[in-house]
Amino acid sequence: MTRILLADPLDKEALEELKSIREFDVTLKTGMDEAELVKTIPGYEVIVVRSATKVTRKVIEAADKLKLIIRAGIGLDNIDVEAARDKGIEVANTPAATSISVAELTLGLMISAARKLGQANMSMKAHKWEKKALTGTELYEKTLGIIGFGRIGQEVAKRALAFGMKVLAYDILDIKTDLPVEIVSFDELLQRADIITLHVPLTRETKHFISKPQFEKMKKGVIIINAARGGVVDEAALLEALNSGQVRAAALDVFEKEPPVDFSLIDHPEVFATPHIGAAAEEGQRRAGMEVVNILKSKFLKES
Ligand code: NAD
Repeated sequence: MTRILLADPLDKEALEELKSIREFDVTLKTGMDEAELVKTIPGYEVIVVRSATKVTRKVIEAADKLKLIIRAGIGLDNIDVEAARDKGIEVANTPAATSISVAELTLGLMISAARKLGQANMSMKAHKWEKKALTGTELYEKTLGIIGFGRIGQEVAKRALAFGMKVLAYDILDIKTDLPVEIVSFDELLQRADIITLHVPLTRETKHFISKPQFEKMKKGVIIINAARGGVVDEAALLEALNSGQVRAAALDVFEKEPPVDFSLIDHPEVFATPHIGAAAEEGQRRAGMEVVNILKSKFLKES
């Protein structure tokens, strides 16, 4: 029997399938902090997490049988990958499972910022009818700048093209694509885009990728979308750019500190905010859960 610890909730169908496999001994125990995880981890060969549980060096050092850490999702920010490598423990994830969920949310954020949907919703719930103050802008024929043209960036491009947008893309890699987009330099994207959306991972290079000097290069009245990672956009510089009018509006799903402690950016009337729900769609979670099941089957079940 392979002992598997599910330390974060997994999609219901995926969980049922895992439990039905007699070679697997599955324990679901969520909401553990580091100290509790350190006590729990001995004896398990696999731990599966989403984004909440942190698999730290201490946890990894306390593990005596651990062979595999699976992240149901993409970013590995909550796993000490180096500590795992030091102990010869494999780390796997499900990078493509939630790309469409995030891309669709990105389009939702874009429309919300452009059409002031946050303000409109709050105003209606305050029993007001403020039609005049709520005139926004269309996406049609606007130039969208996509920074990071990987899985999510390309799914965003397809949907933006369907809205009649012109799409510019920038990536550190030499991207080949059949999509009718213009691959441009970072600076050209900053200068030409009406709306800029970020889809790069948070790395040493991308920390505060968009900060004061970048805002200064943008068109006045630009809209900023971040559904990548908090920290890719410098929040203090964004607030300054919103206050000066350099940035017209921003829609953010991710924050430098989650949950945020300082709400001054979120409180800005032109900021539309969601609590890191990019991947939180049933279909994306099902795909991620099923991919976890397939990884476990391929690693631990002998072919009959
Ligand atoms: P991906 O690896 O397919 O694409 C990322 C792209 O960014 C790659 O093409 C890469 O070359 C490019 N890139 C990396 N560093 C760069 C740099 N310095 N300059 C320019 N380009 C650079 O990843 P993806 O699946 O498209 O996901 C993108 C990001 O979205 C993830 O890293 C994650 O942080 C974020 N994400 C957010 C949510 C959410 O809930 N909001 C969910 C899933 C993923």
